[in-house]
Amino acid sequence: MKIKSVETFVLSDKLEKSFYFSQWSYSERKICLVKVTTDDGQVGWGEGYGPADVLSAGVDFLEQFVVGMNPLNNEAIWYTLYRRTLDYARRGILMASVSAIDVAIWDLKGKILGLPVHQLLGGKQRDIIYPYATGLYFREERDLTQALVEEALEYKSLGYKSLKMKVGMSIEDDIRFVGEVRKAIGDDIKLMIDANHAYNLKEAIYLSNAIEDLDIAWFEEPISPEFYDQHAELRASTSIPIAGGECEYLRWGFHNLLKNNSLDILQPDICASGGLTEAKRIATLATTYGVELVPHSWGTYVAISAAVHFIANLEAIPGRLVMPEFTMEHDRTVNGLRDLVTLPSFEVKDGKLIIPDTPGLGVEINEEALEKYRVK
Ligand SMILES: [Mg+2]
Repeated sequence: MKIKSVETFVLSDKLEKSFYFSQWSYSERKICLVKVTTDDGQVGWGEGYGPADVLSAGVDFLEQFVVGMNPLNNEAIWYTLYRRTLDYARRGILMASVSAIDVAIWDLKGKILGLPVHQLLGGKQRDIIYPYATGLYFREERDLTQALVEEALEYKSLGYKSLKMKVGMSIEDDIRFVGEVRKAIGDDIKLMIDANHAYNLKEAIYLSNAIEDLDIAWFEEPISPEFYDQHAELRASTSIPIAGGECEYLRWGFHNLLKNNSLDILQPDICASGGLTEAKRIATLATTYGVELVPHSWGTYVAISAAVHFIANLEAIPGRLVMPEFTMEHDRTVNGLRDLVTLPSFEVKDGKLIIPDTPGLGVEINEEALEKYRVK
């Protein structure tokens, strides 16, 4: 059996109402899905994280190295792609293209063997994941504080046990928004904040000290991902766990974060940092430092399902009789591409996700919607 083709699908959907965070505003959702087909007509789907047009160009370039290879040999394929990109792109978008192909190959391998991806990774170590709701972005509202409080209460009423909100527009607003949301949701819901590296070290220390008594489960990307050692300084000055890594790539990049004691929680994006093949290695590396890992995840149910299968297989370090509950990022922002094009084989109900055993990633693609939203 051989790989016959690697196709890209760039999809776009204009948003009725834009939303923003500390770096830029979203007025459309745009993603790149990847379809790998074998000579006997079997198909796997992948997705990359990053600008869809550039990602798609990267996948088109890489197709020539993958065609003719056996899809069961995912590590051999991964290494071929890694070697072909190393000289030009040790970090960044070309690695997201590699990741998209890698994720598609895991899906394909699972379908060929009739096994779920979590079993190919080594087997599931739990049956349930407790996803956290990612939302609470900024938008034009007459009363943004009230709108954020209402959104947070909606997630709580849906059963989510933890929520993540954006910060990073101004420290004064952050303190007010986070304080009001905490007051509204009560003490029994975990609350995380994400600055998308909006602050310098002094600002990040100031903010974390100001909200330290609000029981923040983690402060994500407080400062620039370039400053490995400044993260360690921040960690030493606050009791709030520091998370990050969605802008990092490959095991060597994550090793920089680990050996600099930068983070309490590593957040590789499976669809950017090297695919499931490399994410498994990053997870193993994290256990050698005793650092927790919760992948970053943003996109359709292809990307989200890759995270589900990956988290199913993660080791808990340290182990104990009553194991910790594993969480997962569940993006709740408006995304028609996610909801109409990709159909997952799980649902999130009462804050729980039962890990599915369907072969591959278990995502069905709605071909009609795929064509409707396809721009390239
Ligand atoms: Mg983030």
